[in-house]
Formats: sequence, C-alpha cells, structure tokens
Amino acid sequence: MDFTFPAATRQWRNDLREFLRTELPPGFSGSDDFFDDIEQVPFAKEFMRKLGARRWLAPAWPEQYGGMGKTMLEQMILNEELAWHRAPSGGRLFTLGITGPTMLIHATEEQKARWLPSMASGDDWYCQGFSEPGAGSDLASMQTRAVRDGDDYLITGQKIWSSNAHVADKMMLLARTDPDAPKHKGISAFVVDMDTPGITVGAIDNIAYRHDFNEVFFEDVRVPAANLFGGENRGWYVAATTLDFERSNIAAISGARRTVYDLVCWAKQQHPGGRPWDRAEVRHKLSELVVEAEVGRLLAYRTAWLQAKGAVPNYEASIGKVWMAQLGIKVANAGINLMGGYGQLQPSSPWAQLHGRVLTSYLLAASGPIAGGTAEVQRNIIATRGLGLPRG
Ligand SMILES: Cc1cc2nc3c(=O)[nH]c(=O)nc-3n(C[C@H](O)[C@H](O)[C@H](O)COP(=O)(O)OP(=O)(O)OC[C@H]3O[C@@H](n4cnc5c(N)ncnc54)[C@H](O)[C@@H]3O)c2cc1C
Repeated sequence: MDFTFPAATRQWRNDLREFLRTELPPGFSGSDDFFDDIEQVPFAKEFMRKLGARRWLAPAWPEQYGGMGKTMLEQMILNEELAWHRAPSGGRLFTLGITGPTMLIHATEEQKARWLPSMASGDDWYCQGFSEPGAGSDLASMQTRAVRDGDDYLITGQKIWSSNAHVADKMMLLARTDPDAPKHKGISAFVVDMDTPGITVGAIDNIAYRHDFNEVFFEDVRVPAANLFGGENRGWYVAATTLDFERSNIAAISGARRTVYDLVCWAKQQHPGGRPWDRAEVRHKLSELVVEAEVGRLLAYRTAWLQAKGAVPNYEASIGKVWMAQLGIKVANAGINLMGGYGQLQPSSPWAQLHGRVLTSYLLAASGPIAGGTAEVQRNIIATRGLGLPRG
C-alpha cells in the first residue's frame, strides 16, 4: 500500500474542506456520526442535495448513476472529512455506504438506473430492514414473508432496530419468499417505498433519549415484483455483501478522532498551563487514544484500499469494526472522566460543552459493538475466515 496520496487526491480533500467551510454554518455541529436530530433533518436534506448537485455524494460510482468514477479511497476521504467536520449525517451510511454499493453488485441495469441516481443526488434516503425480534445475529431466521401475487409481492411481518426508518424514503428489505427452503436459501431482497399503504413505523427511543431507530410493521404491503433485486431466493448473498460494506465505514473512526482532538482543545482552554495537564495519567490517556485512533484510521484505509482494488473486504472489515467499537467506548469514557461534571450534561443544557457530545457518545458507545453485527460475531469471522480456525 502506498501511504502517500497522489496530488489529485490531496486536492480532492482540500476541495471538500473548502466546501465544508463555506456550507456549514459557523459553529454547526451534527449531533452524531450516523444520525441527525429530528430538528436538523431539513438542513441535512438541503446539505445532501448541495453535495449531490456536485456529484460529491457518491464520487466512486459510475457517472451514469450520478457518480464521478473516482476511487473508493476518494470516496472514503469524503466520508472521513464529513465526519471530521461534524457535517449532517444525512442518512449517508444506510443510503450511500450500504444500499447503493450493494445494488451496484446485485441489481440489474434497469434497477440501477431507476434507484441509484436519486440516491446520488441526495433526494432518496434509504433504511435497512434486516433485523427482526427473533433474528439479529442469526439473520437467516427471519420470518417476514413476501408472497407472490400477480405482478406484486405481498409483504407481512415486522422489522426492528430499523435506523432512520422514520426519515427514510425507501427501505432495503429482506423477506422470506420460500418458507420450505433451507433458511439461508428462501430469502429475497426488495426495495420498498416507505409511504406504501400497510407500513407502520413506531419509534424506539434509545438510551441517549434519541429517536434514531424504529420498529416497522408490514401488513399486506404490496410491492412490485420489479423491486426484487439480486434474484428470487438469493437475498442471503445480497445481505452478505451489504454487511461487508457496513463494516468498512470510516465515519466512526473519524468522529472519534475528532472527539479526541476536541477534548484536547477543550481541556487546554479550561486549564491553560495547569490541571489536568499536570497529571501524567491524563496526558498518557489522551496520547494513547491518539495512537489508537490512528491505528483505526489505517485499518479503515486498508479496507477502502481493498475496495479500490475491486475486492469485497471481509474479515479485514470485521477487524476494523471491532477496533472502532472499542475505540468509541474508550474515547467516550475518557471524555466523561476528563470533563468531570460537564461530561454529564445533556446537549440541551445551557452549560453543555462540546454540544453535549461527550454524554451522548458515552451513552451510544455501548451500542457500537452490537450495531452492524456484534463484536462476538465479528470475532468469529476473524477467527474462521481470517485465521482459518475451525468453527466451534
Ligand atoms: C444502534 C443500532 C442500530 C441498528 N440499526 C439497524 C438497522 O438499521 N437495520 C437492521 O436491520 N438492524 C439494525 N440493528 C440491529 C443489529 O443488526 C442487531 O442488533 C445485531 O445484529 C444483533 O442482533 P440482536 O440484537 O438480535 O442480538 P442477538 O443476535 O440475539 O445476540 C445476543 C448476544 O448473543 C451473542 N451471539 C449471538 N450469536 C452468536 C454467535 N454465533 N457466537 C457468539 N456470540 C453470539 C451476540 O454477540 C450478543 O452478545 C441495529 C442495532 C443497533 C444497536
């Protein structure tokens, strides 16, 4: 791997920074790396469309689908800069980080032409309807049914933990199309418009009092058969590709790196020349976090580099996922300890520092090792596919 980016890539980073300096209002801070506060959604929509108008949302996609034909490394730099600058999340992970790249591999030409341009323009936001109350790590146990009815499928069942389902225009849904086949072989992938009659979205507030995910109910939801992609009963392969993309995201690393940087700036401002800098453990803790954040960054770069070569990262992405989840917890813990009482203030408090992000991160970090496939499942992947160890 060549660690020096070419001049054109460095220029790309500079152009992005310039754009962000111009377009983000002074002092703007997106509330989370993956979710927008509901009151920030209108600005997030506008911001996404501005990026889309420049074709900067999915630069690595082919031009005919709204991209620029850039490399995956350049796409990753975009995600890194957006997260570092705390830009609105705009549902990017679920739309452009997960669903779009999966469609590029599994959808037909007609479907790509139908779905991808409105993602790249920032108009359509997607959510991911995989998990069910009885199917998380063991995703193939899902029970949501899709039954063929003329030119349509009728979908009935329930999804849960569906991030952004309350703000998304469409969902990438997995449903069982053949209940008699072995469980991995009877599943298909669909694109479903979220305003289709029969869909009910119910909020699930998380530990940080945020409405980021949902439960979604389907009652005889009529979906055109033309919205099935990747082949009937071949949804498991679509899902596998999807999860590999989800695990290669750099936004979490970039967000954590930025929090470390913000903590250092905050502490210097609060205690110029004195405490807590006179305590070795504080200096060492922050230095250690910087080292770990840089390691995470390189792991993410490696994943993007594999993607740039046309490979689908697998256990390599799992290594990055485990690292990022642990780093998120460590950074949040350090922030809470360093900020003392301030670290416990809600973002809405007039005395909150750093937009109350330390408390939110601390509460949300617990879900890092669960979302997108648990840390135990990632370790299983690393052990079996990466190290060649036998399955237990
Ligand atoms: C913030 C967040 C956002 C999410 N967003 C979405 C979304 O948008 N769409 C969506 O579909 N889902 C989403 N999820 C759901 C997520 O994918 C599941 O929570 C995850 O896959 C784990 O499934 P589960 O919760 O059912 O736990 P379970 O699978 O029941 O796991 C329970 C425990 O058992 C362990 N375990 C299970 N199987 C094994 C094994 N084989 N070996 C070792 N240990 C094992 C797990 O590691 C875990 O500790 C989200 C979750 C979170 C936390």
